[in-house]
Amino acid sequence: MKHQRNEEFEKAGITVAGGGSAGVMIARCGTCGEFEQISLGTRGRFPPDITARKFEARGWDCSDGRRGRDLCPECNPANKKKEKEKDMTKVTLSVVPTAPPALVEPVQAIQAVLVEPPPAMTRDDKRIIFAKLNDVYLNETAGYSAGWTDQRIADDLSVPRAWVSGIRDENFGPEAANEEIRTQLTEARAVLADVQLVLEKAEKLQTEAEASLKRQSDLTEAIKSLKGAADRVGKNVDRIHKALGV
Ligand SMILES: [Zn+2]
Repeated sequence: MKHQRNEEFEKAGITVAGGGSAGVMIARCGTCGEFEQISLGTRGRFPPDITARKFEARGWDCSDGRRGRDLCPECNPANKKKEKEKDMTKVTLSVVPTAPPALVEPVQAIQAVLVEPPPAMTRDDKRIIFAKLNDVYLNETAGYSAGWTDQRIADDLSVPRAWVSGIRDENFGPEAANEEIRTQLTEARAVLADVQLVLEKAEKLQTEAEASLKRQSDLTEAIKSLKGAADRVGKNVDRIHKALGV
């Protein structure tokens, strides 16, 4: 079996509508450079040997087995021989050109998925949104009262946000909520104050730690000198013992 793998053919991917992908296997003629492709469908691969057989069914000679060394139907000597035989028998049949290979899978795959337009706003929708905005939008300079945004109204009323934005823009003012910004600023200041407090504490702790380190090294020195003194005293005691002959 010659074609155990499909490596002799080039493989290319094509994208089909809906995000799927399909592949094609491409055979290239080693003599004239002609190429032909066979669609793999969406599974993207053929079992070994099938690709070569499919090309051979179209008149290719895939016996070489190396990439780019196949022979297209024009250059395939077996086909020439057949044509010659046809000529010999003087059968005058117009050569029916082989159908061009399909580039892509069927057309319906390419049909664009239409995005559904948002539903139209009814008068009731408008009234409800307007009423809500009237409740929670302070004025043009202050914007929304704290906590309110286009999105929150949209969520509250289960309507598209674009509807809220449209009515608010047209009838009230910008979304930029000054009051909200003020609130955030106040919160930020509070956080900053907290941070400064913690920082002060940390600095105090650091000073204490440094002092403690200093104390420790003082202690180490004291222990060292005490040990020295103890040694000296011990030696003196020994000497006294010897002198006394104890
Ligand atoms: Zn060729």
